[in-house]
Amino acid sequence: MLFDVERVRKDFPILNQRVHGNPLVYLDNAATSQKPRVVLEAMKRYYETVNSNVHRGVHYLSEQATADYEHARTKVQRFINAPHVHEVVFVRGTTEGINLVAQSYGRKNVEKGDEVLISGLEHHSNIVPWQILCDEKGARLRIVPINDSGEIVLEEYEKLLNNKTKIVSLGHVSNALGTVNPIKRMIATAHRFGIPVLIDGAQGVPHMKVDVQDLNADFYVFSGHKMFGPTGIGILYGKTEFLDAMPPFQGGGDMIKSVTFEKTVYNDLPYKFEAGTPNIEGAIGMGAAIDYLHEFDWNSVSAYEADLLSYATDSVSVVKKLRLVGTAAEKAGVLSFVIDGVHPHDVGTILDREGIAIRTGHHCAQPVMQRFGVPATARASFAFYNMKSEVDTLVKALYKVNEVFG
Ligand code: PLP
Repeated sequence: MLFDVERVRKDFPILNQRVHGNPLVYLDNAATSQKPRVVLEAMKRYYETVNSNVHRGVHYLSEQATADYEHARTKVQRFINAPHVHEVVFVRGTTEGINLVAQSYGRKNVEKGDEVLISGLEHHSNIVPWQILCDEKGARLRIVPINDSGEIVLEEYEKLLNNKTKIVSLGHVSNALGTVNPIKRMIATAHRFGIPVLIDGAQGVPHMKVDVQDLNADFYVFSGHKMFGPTGIGILYGKTEFLDAMPPFQGGGDMIKSVTFEKTVYNDLPYKFEAGTPNIEGAIGMGAAIDYLHEFDWNSVSAYEADLLSYATDSVSVVKKLRLVGTAAEKAGVLSFVIDGVHPHDVGTILDREGIAIRTGHHCAQPVMQRFGVPATARASFAFYNMKSEVDTLVKALYKVNEVFG
């Protein structure tokens, strides 16, 4: 079945507007994606008809809110093919999911002299939580290098795994460069050493079908707002054997079975990790986003996105003085570049006047910028509602940048 982008765009009300007098060209999807009408409606419906706290009331609304919240969890379970629904923990987003694992699994299992292994491609959210842990424990954060194309050097990865490595934490897709990492293979390699692996899937789920069983990931985290759902909600998937053995991350309501001043008995999974009133409407919105994504044939979506990215790569390459940063063989959704002699912020500002939203800066991946010797890049990032005509608009505007900066 062919992917009908014009039809899909009608589902996203925000796309149909003008910015500075020009049609909006939204190319900042790696920062956050836009939301289809069905997501907005699901959240509005929740507040208009169901709003109540979950897991606490015996009244109709509370039961309904609980049922909707738990139903959203089941949708997530199916979405990533998690074996058990209790392995799906609602968190605020990818960042909180990684911090949870670092603080709970990490604090329990990482000791002085141990090692935590990440790659040189990571978002700050997959660096700093591990740094905090390693500082606290006297452990060592080790980094797998990346090559000039922005790919993880697999031979070095294998060399860095050893009996001191307590966890490996890797991005699925790099937000700064778009590199798709061979995570299935990397997970299998770590498992040969008996080391668990966390995958930061923030940029994975918006672009590809994720099956945590097929990947054999021990933890997989992602954010609702990057996959056409709302902000403030995300998922930590973890295998039962790990989550069960992990201490709570935060204490409070809902994460307990009983409390006395002498002793607290913690709740079962996943509630042990969901202290306090959760983001109920966020979970429901995320469930609606998943329902929406289920309507698509993901083979056609992936083919459409790959074609769009390849078209964009070829198109911007002819712009004078433009240099792509990140040229991995496997990429998804991201085009990072610099134009010699022009600061990326100036590129972003000129593009904004044309109605084009891109991101400029270090993309919360400063070590990646350092690796490529640039302080920042301009980044156009795509979703399945973007079109080749928008790429053409981008390229025209980049010509304008060169005219302005001579
Ligand atoms: N990891 C990656 C690869 C990301 O792209 C992002 C956000 O840009 C994050 C983690 C953090 O996600 P959030 O801010 O939703 O927690």
